[in-house]
Amino acid sequence: MKKNKKKIIIANMKMNGSLNFNIDYLNAIKINFNNYKNLNIGLCVPYPYLFQAKEFLKGSNIGWGSQNVAKFENGPHTGEVSAEMLKDFDSQYVIVGHSERNTAYCESDENIANKFERIKKYKMSPVLCVGETLIEREAGIMERVVSSQIDTIIQIYGAEIFEDSIVAYEPIWAIGSDMAATPIQANKMCNFIKEHICKSYNSDFENFNIIYGGSVNSKNAVQLFTSESLDGVLIGRASVNIDEFSQICSTADSS
Ligand code: PEP
Repeated sequence: MKKNKKKIIIANMKMNGSLNFNIDYLNAIKINFNNYKNLNIGLCVPYPYLFQAKEFLKGSNIGWGSQNVAKFENGPHTGEVSAEMLKDFDSQYVIVGHSERNTAYCESDENIANKFERIKKYKMSPVLCVGETLIEREAGIMERVVSSQIDTIIQIYGAEIFEDSIVAYEPIWAIGSDMAATPIQANKMCNFIKEHICKSYNSDFENFNIIYGGSVNSKNAVQLFTSESLDGVLIGRASVNIDEFSQICSTADSS
């Protein structure tokens, strides 16, 4: 990771937490994490806890947001939550295209592209998750798979939509598996993604970041933060354990 550039740390709480648990958790984040001056931290909480996250974290250096959004503006879409509603809670980050959702709800690349655009429309940062399965990696087609996920967005909205956004390289085989990508694998794919998007844009982005996610923990973070092409990490399970989360942030802040 580049020195002198703030590192991005996105936490995906997944479907964890409760009003009670969050009181100690958010308090600890607010008190301890505010000292990390070299980090941009975003906590992506379940929808019902957005208000609580906002109440605890407002006025701190820590941002918050959600793990999904509707592709619609508003209307008869029972159970959905719109980008405008997320913005009502001052959300700054929205995860989109997470593989756990893609698998469970058969999310198409077009749906993900439409959600990405909704998030941008309301001036929040999409955290777009892309990545290949183990079979695809073993077949050596991981770059083709990842570029096609990205190209759907570029074809519909143009590469300029990636300004002020974050792409998370999350190999599906590494999520929830305790088998993180090696720093070399993560570095190579993040470099590929950055070049692929920048080539399509034909210009430099002012604010565009690539992060890695998949079984990040306090031990492998040390190596991952030495990777030149990574601008940060997306942390899943480890972010719900405050000691583990804090250790990863401390490593990132000093690397
Ligand atoms: C994730 O949920 O995006 C993730 C990377 O999970 P984990 O860190 O638990 O593998």
